[in-house]
Formats: sequence, structure tokens, C-alpha cells
Amino acid sequence: MKSHVRVAVIGGGVVGCSVLFHLAKAGWTDIALIERLELTSGSSWHAAGGFHTLNGDPNVAKLQSYTVQLYKEIEEISGQSCGLHITGGMMLAGTPERMDFLKLAHAKGRYLGMETEIIDAAEAKRRLPLLDERHFLGAMYDPLEGHLDPSGTTHAYAKAARSFGAEIYRQTRVVELNTRPDGGWDVVTDKGTIRADHVVNAGGLWAREVGRMVGIELPVLAMEHHYIVTEDMPEVVEANAATGKELIHVIDFEGEVYLRQEGKGILLGCYERHGVPWAPDSTSWDFGPELLAEDLDRIGPSLEVSFKHFPAMAKAGIKRVVNGPFTFTPDGNPLVGPVRGLKNYWAACGVMAGFSQGGGVGLALANWMIEGDPGFDVWGMDVSRYGDWATPAYTNAKVRENYSRRFRIRFPNEELPAARPLRTVPIHGGLEAENAVFGASYGLEYPLWFALKGTPAEETVTYRRSNAFPVVAAECRAVRAGVGLMETSSYGRYEVAGPEAEAFLESLLANRLPALGRLALAPMLNAKGKLIGDFTVGRIAPDRFFIVGSGPAEAYHLRWFERQRGGRNLTIRPMTADLAGLAIAGPKARELLARLVRDDLSTAAFPFLSIRRMAVGMVPALVSRISFTGEQGYELWCAPDSQRALYQTIRDAGCDLGLVLFGSHTLLSLRLEKGFGIWAREYRPIYGPEEAQLKRFVRLDKGEFVGREAAKAERGEGGERRLVPFEVDARDADAFGDEPIWHGGQVVGWVTSGGYGHTVGKSLALGYVPKGLAAAASGFEIEIIGERRDARILAAPPYDPSGSRMRG
Ligand SMILES: Cc1cc2nc3c(=O)[nH]c(=O)nc-3n(C[C@H](O)[C@H](O)[C@H](O)COP(=O)(O)OP(=O)(O)OC[C@H]3O[C@@H](n4cnc5c(N)ncnc54)[C@H](O)[C@@H]3O)c2cc1C
Repeated sequence: MKSHVRVAVIGGGVVGCSVLFHLAKAGWTDIALIERLELTSGSSWHAAGGFHTLNGDPNVAKLQSYTVQLYKEIEEISGQSCGLHITGGMMLAGTPERMDFLKLAHAKGRYLGMETEIIDAAEAKRRLPLLDERHFLGAMYDPLEGHLDPSGTTHAYAKAARSFGAEIYRQTRVVELNTRPDGGWDVVTDKGTIRADHVVNAGGLWAREVGRMVGIELPVLAMEHHYIVTEDMPEVVEANAATGKELIHVIDFEGEVYLRQEGKGILLGCYERHGVPWAPDSTSWDFGPELLAEDLDRIGPSLEVSFKHFPAMAKAGIKRVVNGPFTFTPDGNPLVGPVRGLKNYWAACGVMAGFSQGGGVGLALANWMIEGDPGFDVWGMDVSRYGDWATPAYTNAKVRENYSRRFRIRFPNEELPAARPLRTVPIHGGLEAENAVFGASYGLEYPLWFALKGTPAEETVTYRRSNAFPVVAAECRAVRAGVGLMETSSYGRYEVAGPEAEAFLESLLANRLPALGRLALAPMLNAKGKLIGDFTVGRIAPDRFFIVGSGPAEAYHLRWFERQRGGRNLTIRPMTADLAGLAIAGPKARELLARLVRDDLSTAAFPFLSIRRMAVGMVPALVSRISFTGEQGYELWCAPDSQRALYQTIRDAGCDLGLVLFGSHTLLSLRLEKGFGIWAREYRPIYGPEEAQLKRFVRLDKGEFVGREAAKAERGEGGERRLVPFEVDARDADAFGDEPIWHGGQVVGWVTSGGYGHTVGKSLALGYVPKGLAAAASGFEIEIIGERRDARILAAPPYDPSGSRMRG
């Protein structure tokens, strides 16, 4: 065992071995993996070994597709077989909604270059003779599905890593992690201490414990999971003889089971509704490569459905039952990346589908460690998408929900109920009394829309327009004609202050900082010139800045701020607990606010993009003149203990102006009419500012800032794509994001946001197309639930393109 390594990867499951392989392949030397027993001693050894590329997040799907394509390479490098069976696979739909879901997944796959196919039930039967087609409407076929040998694959990664010089220390348990003054770690094991510059938590079933060694609580929890393996089945043998092939993989959403051929029988696994967490508080170090007690009653209902859907299964004898634990996160995606607040401590855990995702996780993490950037859009699996609010009890409720819904449809407008409400704003009860329909973002409840009095505060879940449609239309009309009030505490907010605050922010943000009392819109770029944030920055004192950005990206942004600050003399403070927000918008917004403040609100005295402290009624508030609706708008930030008073004051004063409450559904419609983008939809780390049409906020002439050189190069060559607004000839369903954009019979781009523009009476979408096509107004189609609808690029935002309404 070495006394000093550059990286210590803790955990020899498929994920740790993949991280080690990718680091070694990229040329990092002095790297070691530490495994408490033998490789695969966690959840990896008893996995069913299935792999597929489908994922709700297209960027994660892309990494899954990379994983599947990597297996041949590691077999060649290591000489170790992964036991690959690329059989292809089908996802079966038994309901029209599920068929819609598959059409959407298929459409998403198109722009990722995935070759899936939608087939009818008769064709599904032809491809898998075992199924009874009367239960199905059709299926999506994916040629890139199959199964492998979990142990062989893990060892193939390990051997390939060794061939590049990496070391593996087996039978060695990490018992403590201590920070060193030089920024590295003392990795204390039961065989002695190793000094490591970086540590990677790939602890799988023990990831929580390896997190607790450094004082963090990672939101991961293991669930028990069953699969059965049948005796040999004559039907399988016959089907093999008839087709000359192994049976293909199947996911049967209605039965909530997956199945595949194993020998001459079938392996069938269940995601039952009432899943059971395993080791909910902590995982014993004594747990070895063991299986859990089987509980066939628990999976009985799933088995019964599968006996109907695949009648031969009802007659088959069961040879083996496997019940084993593996970890989930609250949203089912992995936890990857640097952990905020800890130097050189990296997460690679919570990987629920190690054999679909392990390769992508290893590649992204290795890139991140080596180049400071994952090289892909890994927002969907970034460890920073959770904050301290994701406690073990939250994780427990969400993971159980996630497990039980693994094969259920998630509608685009569906808000899942578990672990809610968790974080609420002070006026939550007031909003509830107004019939708000809530969503949750970063654990916080926020209003989506306000159902009519006397009707249930519920949105029907659908791929098409929901019951919210006419109500949101009315909210939009009221804001455009009068004034609306919105709760905005779901936005992220920070204060950066101190003698070096200005110099720091100048180096961090791409725009010039505003003068005292003014606001500026400022993108934040990484070193590759890609967008990692878009903020409104206000200077509230010469050396004090108030910054507003995306709420769900709070930990993501704080992690970046803290890494970039160096030793500068300043403070960076998240203001989430210190300030609550409200916004008013509409042509009567100024008239309303003027009734409550002594300040002169005229455009001359308090123009667009101003910020100032004011007393609003009795409440001291920080008021910004800013608009995300395209109307006159003000954001008001106050101490949480005064939010109720501020809310009531505004409501009382706005009564005779027709003040309405509105939520984020309305904001989506209004922002689409203005062509305004948001973080995680239009702005993500795969786009440059030129591509995202944010060029005017990037001041190449202002001096050094992170990403300047890359942004300069992008400006020179123009990037590859352009964000453009579309008008879509939709019917009863609008785009909502991730739909493919067609031109000339080819998929050329994708939608980032979509919805209905109630003021302009058009279905609208924002999306990226190749820059050469951005000037081609017509000839586009956007695929909405399997139908290609005509779409046109709009030369300007459809509502108030000059911006005179919000500036005036
Ligand atoms: C029944 C079942 C069926 C499954 N089917 C599939 C499937 O079909 N397809 C699929 O993709 N996935 C499947 N999975 C999930 C898959 O097994 C996991 O996604 C995968 O194993 C996760 O790998 P890992 O490396 O993150 O964790 P693990 O395999 O748990 O590895 C973690 C390793 O870290 C070691 N370790 C932890 N702490 C320390 C320490 N302090 N010091 C040293 N070593 C330490 C452990 O000993 C362990 O070997 C299944 C799981 C189960 C249980």
C-alpha cells in the first residue's frame, strides 16, 4: 500500500471501478481504489445485470448510452469478458397514456441520436412470442438494451484500470477521513493511513457512512429489491429456436416488472408499490455479500400481473429468488461531483442502475477532477442539486415514492406528493387559503396557479392542456391588463460584500457590475465559456451586492462562488433564510406600489433596473425594478417575519386595481411571449452565451473574467446553435421541453421550454437549432406526442418586442 496517492477511490463496486478506470485512462497516476472486502461486495455482485439507455433526463440518457458502448472497450483493454448480451429491449404500453409516454421518450431519443422504434402490439408479440398481446397497445423498441455479468464487468473495469497503472487495495476498510492542512486527506484504514490529494466516495451501500466520516448527510437510501429466476421453460427454448436469437428484454409498465432470458428460463424483477427500505439509519460494516430474506407475498401482485401478461410464466417453476439492497436518491439519479464546503471530496454514489450509468458517472467525475469540468451536462445528477434540507427522513419518503413509481408515468405537469410540505414560506397558509396549487422546488413549496374558489386545488395530470389552462389564461390577462402578485422565495439570493467583493464579482461574472442603486443582468461562465448561471446583480452599497438567480441551483452556485473566491477579503451569504420575496407585475404595478411608499417611482427617479431600500407600508424592503413578465415589475425582498404584513399590505392596496395572485404557470406563459430564458432550461452548461442569445450581457472589453477567452472565441466563430422563439401549430397539447425540432425531414434541434402564450393566442416554444438555420423562418416541425406540428421561428418575441411596456 502506498503512503501517498493522488486519488483514493473508496469502494470497489462497479461505480468505484469505473471512476478508477476513467482516471487511469486519462493518464492520472498514483491512484488507488480501496475496498473493504473483495470487489463487488456491495450491491454490485447480485445485480440482475440489465442495461438500457432510457432516462427522463436526456443528458443522463446520453451518459447511459456512453456506458453501454464502453463495454466492448473495457473488454478489449482488460481481456476480461463482461458477459455481454445485447439483445435489444422493449418497453410495453398497456394504456394510451403510456403509449404517449413512449412516443415522447422516442422523440427525445431522436435528438440524442438514439435509434428507438415505436411498434404496435402485434409486432411486439412477434419480437417476444411469450407475451399476450391483448394486454398491450404497443411498445418502444431499443436495440441498445441487454444484460451482462455484473461481476465480470466490475472486474473488467478494475483490470483495465490496473493496466494503466492504477492500484487496488482489497480487504482494506476506510475507517476515518481527516482533512490535512495542505488541503488533502488522511485516509485512515484498518491497514494504516494513506495520504490522498483527493477522495472519491463510491461507497455504494455505505455511501452515507463514508459521507458521515466528513460530517455530511448524503441523500441516499437503499431499498430491498427482488428478482426471481425460473427453471428452464420450453416456451423459451421454442422461441429461441424459432427466432434463432435470445429473447429480448422487456419492461412491462403495467405489471411494474422487467424480464429477460437467463439460461433457458426467465429472470423477472419487480418494482412493487410498497417497497421496503433497507438499513434506513445506517449500514452495518459487517454486512457482506449476503442476500436478504425473500418475501414473495410482497411481490405477489406484480407476479400475478406478469402471469397474465406472459402466460408461460404462470406454469414455470421458480429456481432462485434474489432479494438484495441497492441505493436510490430522492429523484432516482446519481449523486456526482465535488461536495460543497469540502476540498477535494467527490461523490460518485446513489447510482441506482450501475450497469446503465456507471460508465457515464466514471467519465464525468474523472473529467471533473482532471479538467475542473465534467465535460457534459450533468446537472441532473450533480450532488449539489440537494441542500441540507434533504434530511434522512425526507430521503426516506422520497426514495420510497421513487421506488414505487419506477415504472410509472411521470406527467410533465405532475408534482409528486411525498415529503411535502417541507419548506414553506411565511404566507404559505394565506396562499393555500386562496386555493393555490403548489409545486416543490429545492424542497420549497411555491404556487403554480390559483384554482378557482370552490374548485379543488388540483391539476389533472396529462400530456395535453390541463384544467389549469383556462385559469392560467385568466391570470395572464389580469397581469397584462392590470397588476398581479407573485411569491418569489423560490429564487436563489445571495449577498456578496466586503472590500474585494467588486473585484471578485468582476472576475466571476461576464457583464460589467452595475453602479450604486442599479441592477445588471449577468451570465456566469465556466472556463470553457459555457453558461453556469444567469443572475440579476444589484449594487446596494459601494462594496455590497445583492444577487438573484435560480433557486434549485443554490448549492451549485454557492459551490462555484466559494471555489472561485480564493483568499479574497469578502463574505458570501445565501439569503434564503434572511429574505422572503414577492413580486408585482402589470401596467398598474407602479400605481400600486406608489400607494405604499414615499419614494418617487417615476421612470426618471426609479428607472428600469434600479434597486433601493424602501419602506413599503410598514415593512422595510429591498425593492428592484425588474420584469420577467414583460410588464412594469417590482421585486420586493423583506425579512421573512414581515412577509405576511407586506403581502397583506399589497393585497389591501391593490383591491380596487383588480390585483390578482399568479403563479409560475402564468409566469411561463408570460416569459415565453417575451422570449425570456431561465436556468436549467434555456441556460445550461452545454450552451455558450452567443448560442443562448445572451451576447449583450457579455462584456469582452471589461477585463479578465472566468470564461472570457472561450467567450471571445465563441463570438469569433459564432458557436454551433442558436436559441430561437417558435410559434407552433399545436392542437390540444403544447410543447413543454425536450421535444425534437425537425427541418427538411431531419431532427435538427430540441425544445427547451414550451407552453401557450395566452395574450398572443399562440402556442410557443423556445429551442436550439443549428445557427445556419436560425434565419430560416419556416419549414420547421416540432414533434409533440408523436405528431410533427408545423412551427415557425419568430423574428422577434411575440409580445411587446421593443420592451417599452416594462421599461416605461
Ligand atoms: C437485486 C438487484 C438487482 C439489480 N439489478 C440491476 C440491473 O439489472 N441493472 C443495473 O444497472 N443495476 C442493477 N442493480 C443495481 C446495481 O447493483 C447498483 O446500481 C450498483 O451495484 C451500484 O454500484 P456501486 O459501486 O455504487 O455500489 P456497491 O456495489 O455497493 O459498491 C460499494 C463498494 O464500496 C465498498 N465500501 C464501502 N465503504 C467502504 C469503506 N469505508 N472502505 C472500503 N470499502 C468500502 C463496499 O464494500 C462495496 O464493495 C441491482 C441491484 C440489486 C440489489
